[in-house]
Amino acid sequence: MANMASDPLTMPTAMSATSAASATRLGNPELQLSVIVPVKDEEQAIAAFIARLAPILDALFADGAWEVLFIDDGSEDATMAAILAAHGRDGRIRALSLSRNFGKEAALSAGLDHASGKAVIPMDVDLQDPPEVIGQMLDRWREGYEVVYGVRRNRSTDSLPKRLTADLYYRAHNYLSDDKIPEHAGDFRLLDRSVVEVIRRMPERNRFMKGLFAWSGFRQAAVEYDRVPRAVGKTKFRYWKLWTLAIDGITSASTMPLRIWSYVGVMIALLALVYAIYLTIRTTLFGIDVPGYTSMMVATLFLGGVQLISLGVLGEYVGRILVETKQRPIYVIRQKVGIDADRSEESR
Ligand code: UDP
Ligand code: MG
Repeated sequence: MANMASDPLTMPTAMSATSAASATRLGNPELQLSVIVPVKDEEQAIAAFIARLAPILDALFADGAWEVLFIDDGSEDATMAAILAAHGRDGRIRALSLSRNFGKEAALSAGLDHASGKAVIPMDVDLQDPPEVIGQMLDRWREGYEVVYGVRRNRSTDSLPKRLTADLYYRAHNYLSDDKIPEHAGDFRLLDRSVVEVIRRMPERNRFMKGLFAWSGFRQAAVEYDRVPRAVGKTKFRYWKLWTLAIDGITSASTMPLRIWSYVGVMIALLALVYAIYLTIRTTLFGIDVPGYTSMMVATLFLGGVQLISLGVLGEYVGRILVETKQRPIYVIRQKVGIDADRSEESR
């Protein structure tokens, strides 16, 4: 702990909560920065990524105290071979290989669990997020910010529908949830070790990372950057996957979708009461009016629809409760490359 006290980044408030955890985590106290990179079928991207990133990191850290940790998320191509070749050339390039495809969020969790830098930066391998921004992130971090997130100055590289839905999603999420996600911020951000430890201790299986980052708080700063088109390969996120991710995000951050049905129910019941009174009075005054097929059908179908929607929403939450109660690991590691056994003791 002695050398930590002299570290300008070691904020007393941040450390007190996590000092015990960090002490065991910092197997390599010299290591300043870990860049964690989830990869799925990215064989062509690995070499280009390292060729661009390594000189930048070397320029930023004169002592070379950085690591790049790839998390191979069940790739079916030669991604792992490319990583092994890179590891052979430079031992600071390390990797975890998961036993199958667990998804980017789980891969990021694996990365956070095995990164040992004082700061951790999750990054995509496709070079859409320019590594040059890392320098600015480190500057803000050294000023004392524990989270420095990258904000996309423009999203012109995304298709219009993607931009619109992303916009809508951020609005919906931030309206429903108390933990606000910064708009146009991706997973590209710098996290101080104290934040990493908080995220690692979150027990949930649902790893919607942006939501977890938002929940954890801390002092946050933004740096702007331009997001460029993918260098090679194509996006792994099709619309259905994004939709699922969006639901994961909202259900993990807010119970509003569950509670809204009580109010909808009360409103419909009130309307029905008014209508019942009207019908009773009308029938008393003017006698029985048999034709009523239309109103019957409309009421039945409308209520049926509302009930199915509310059941569906309930189902989304119940399904997630089931997943959480099973307590299965978030990911399973098949192979570790360049990571000492003691550093990854706590893998889940
Ligand atoms: N990725 C992953 N597991 C998956 C899907 C994607 O680890 O199941 C990785 C992918 O290799 C890339 C990053 O997540 O490094 C971002 O993916 P992509 O560029 O396809 O997403 P987009 O930029 O289109 O949102
Ligand atoms: Mg991408």
